[in-house]
Amino acid sequence: MIVWIVLIILVIASIWQLTRSVRLTLTDSTDQQGHDKLSQEEAHIKCPLVYNGNELEFPDDVLNAVLTRHFPYYNRLLDIDREKFISRLKKFIDTKIFIIHDKKGYREMPILISAAAIQLTFGLKKYLLSHFNIIQIFPEAFVGLEPFRILIGNVTGNTINIAWKQFLEGYKNKYELQNVGLHEMAHALYYQNFETAMSIDKDFKDTFRKFNSIGDKIYNVEKVLTIGLYSEYAIKDFQEFWAESIEIYFKSPDRLNLHYPELYQVLCDLLNQDPLNYPNHLFKV
Ligand SMILES: [Zn+2]
Repeated sequence: MIVWIVLIILVIASIWQLTRSVRLTLTDSTDQQGHDKLSQEEAHIKCPLVYNGNELEFPDDVLNAVLTRHFPYYNRLLDIDREKFISRLKKFIDTKIFIIHDKKGYREMPILISAAAIQLTFGLKKYLLSHFNIIQIFPEAFVGLEPFRILIGNVTGNTINIAWKQFLEGYKNKYELQNVGLHEMAHALYYQNFETAMSIDKDFKDTFRKFNSIGDKIYNVEKVLTIGLYSEYAIKDFQEFWAESIEIYFKSPDRLNLHYPELYQVLCDLLNQDPLNYPNHLFKV
């Protein structure tokens, strides 16, 4: 009889222990900053962390939760567009390799950096930026070679490089115009359409000519008298002017429209989006 009682106690104790450890594992996966760890085995880490996007398989509810928490653009979308956003995001993540130059990998890294690309291309038919199959994520500003300089992001070969700290600030800080994620995706989108022979979006290319002519006038005006929208860096190189125009278009569409309505309008046509009038102006794709 005593043996049976002891046995029953042991079984109850082990079930309790089991449920407790499952609960601990789940709780531990989110730290105070709301960063869900990508890798649980932080102790034996090899750096960099490398993830094939097609093995990540984030469930829809995880994607939805991360976007809701960190991505204002997604929160403004109607339900039908949220579904489209998630579906595109999954396909995008699927086609990329993520190299994280840190001992800590967070789910937000591949999800939110890919989401920046989906935001930029949301009105376009082609959105995979297929020339770029590698996304490298650095915890902070990093060193770029040839020329040797400190970077927070760049696009080189088939790789998009982004500094995570500055990437997050681009979405958190509403009052600054900078957004390195959108900036680098803008370079990548241009490169995909004008420098590669794959996945070219004819409408985008055609409308880009209009952006060139309107943008060029403003670029020259800004060189002489800046009104404070563009940085000095942007008015030295038209490619940078393009990438910063995208940052301003998404972060402060009202200011862009106020100062340069023609430029705002051509970007709406080019990207098939209208941030100032959504959802009254729905995506046509
Ligand atoms: Zn740039």
